[in-house]
Order: sequence, then C-alpha cells, then structure tokens
Amino acid sequence: MNRRSFLALGASAPAFAQTTGRPVEPFDDHGPLVIERKREGKPRAGQVVAAIQPHSDDIPIFAAGTFFKLMDEGATGYLIRVTNDDMAGPGWYAETVSANERDEKAVAQVFGVKKAFDLNYNNHTMDTIARSELKARFIFLFRLLKVNTVVCYDPWGHYEENPDHYITAACVEAACWMAGGSKDYPEHFEAGLKPHGVREKYYFARFQQRVNRVVDTTPWLEKKIDVNVENKAQGPAGENGAQLKARLEKEGKRLPLLGNDNNTANRNYIREFVLAQDRETGKKYGLEYAEQFHYIGPEANPVQEYIRKNAVSR
Ligand SMILES: [Zn+2]
Repeated sequence: MNRRSFLALGASAPAFAQTTGRPVEPFDDHGPLVIERKREGKPRAGQVVAAIQPHSDDIPIFAAGTFFKLMDEGATGYLIRVTNDDMAGPGWYAETVSANERDEKAVAQVFGVKKAFDLNYNNHTMDTIARSELKARFIFLFRLLKVNTVVCYDPWGHYEENPDHYITAACVEAACWMAGGSKDYPEHFEAGLKPHGVREKYYFARFQQRVNRVVDTTPWLEKKIDVNVENKAQGPAGENGAQLKARLEKEGKRLPLLGNDNNTANRNYIREFVLAQDRETGKKYGLEYAEQFHYIGPEANPVQEYIRKNAVSR
C-alpha cells in the first residue's frame, strides 16, 4: 500500500487493511491441524526418512515417537547428527565428544536406522560455518539416500537460542528444495545421483511454533524411553533418575516413583519428567502421549492431476 492510499483510509480503518493484492489472512499455508494416529500395515514401504539433529539428544526428546512411527510404517530410517556435541557432557572437550559419540551410536542402534552420519561441526559455533557448505552436504545426502521425509527443528520456530538448532534447520529447509534442482551441484549427476527434492517435513521446536500436526506417540512410549535412556552425556534424560535416587538415599529419603533399582529409576524419571511435555500435548487432544510439529506435506501437482483425469487416447 502506498502512503497516499493509507492516509485516504482515515483513522477508523484497520492499520494493515489492504486495498489491492493478496488479502491479509491467517497463516495456514500448510494446512489445518491433523491428528496423526497409528496406521496398520506398511503404508510407507519403499520410503526413506532422515531424522536430522544438531545434537545427540534432540530427536530422542522431541520426535522419537514420530521417528519410530514412520519407520514402523515401513520407511527406511537414517540418523544425521550435525555437531560433535563438544559443549555438553562430562569432563573437558575431548571427553565430552567421546561420551556423546557413544550415546549417538547407542541412540542410532535403538532407533534401528540403516545408517547414522556424523557431520562433525563444533557445538554452538555453527553460525561461523558456511551455510552453503552445510546445504551442499545435505543435498548430497538427500540425493544419495533418496530421502522422502525429514524430521528436524523448525526453521521458523520462535525464540530458539541455540544457533546449532536454527542454522541446521534453515540449511535443511533450503537443501530439501535445492536437492530437486537440475542445475545445483551438477557434478553430483556425473557421479550417478539424480535431482531429488524432499517433499515431506516434520518440524519440531523447543519453544513457539505454528503446530498443524499432532502425532499420537502413545504406542511408542516405551521405545521413546529406551532411546532417551541412552543420552547419558547430556540432556534431561539418561541416568538422571538413578543419580537422583542415590542423592536422596544419602539424605535418608526415597521417592516411590524411582523404584528399587537404577533401571526403574531412570525409566520412571524419564516417563514422569522428560515426557511431561508429551503428556501435556496429548491431553489437549484426548491422547495419552503426543508430539507436535509444523508439518509440510507433498503438494499436489495440478497439471498431473488434470492429465490423470482428462487425458484421452489420440
Ligand atoms: Zn540440541
């Protein structure tokens, strides 16, 4: 709107009223809220899903149930860790890296992925790397693995503090699109790869985001606990239950929640505290446990659809 037409609207007009162009409307480009539930059979047979996490505990905390679900539906899973996790864990840098490397391998094993990739950037300094390099690495992997679906941080989530989260997410989003191009990194094609865009995205966030997909993860609750137990070096899960139990014993106290052995303590601690958010999300939608996402699905191709309905033999 130009200044003249704005002034002409007068004081009683809404401040952002538009007289031309696309009208102001709620942001719902990627569809209304859908509750996604367990599906029988293998509706995703032949598909590939890549779970991409800056750190070894991101997917376990925010999207493990959904990742298990997608693989249970028949998709082949891959896990991609972007940093070496050198800022979060026991000891000094090298010990921290080693402890997280153990965790990442264990997490990949519990998920049952076909392969896990480590891109090995330093923690908390991803804003100093070339985004074009990270995008190129994702594009290569998306083409190589023929990825259909990504599970990753929301590149448009609000108030995220950790640059590893938002830079990874932004590069994943761009790479999903660019991997489908025929002029981006054409040397890949000489090596036998083909353009292959990623058309389905499950984006999770630590803080605010626009949620349009809630996944009922109740059937994968115990598996989500299994995978969170493996994040021993960092995060809110791991062996915190056993540590709390030991601390309370020293103080002459006991929490019935934590049971009588370390395994029970760890699992029940995760169930009660780490998965409290999943319980809260589930409660809103009449589910026991749920994970929430901004979901972007494959768009229909109107030309193909028209051809399918209207093409006749010559
Ligand atoms: Zn993280």
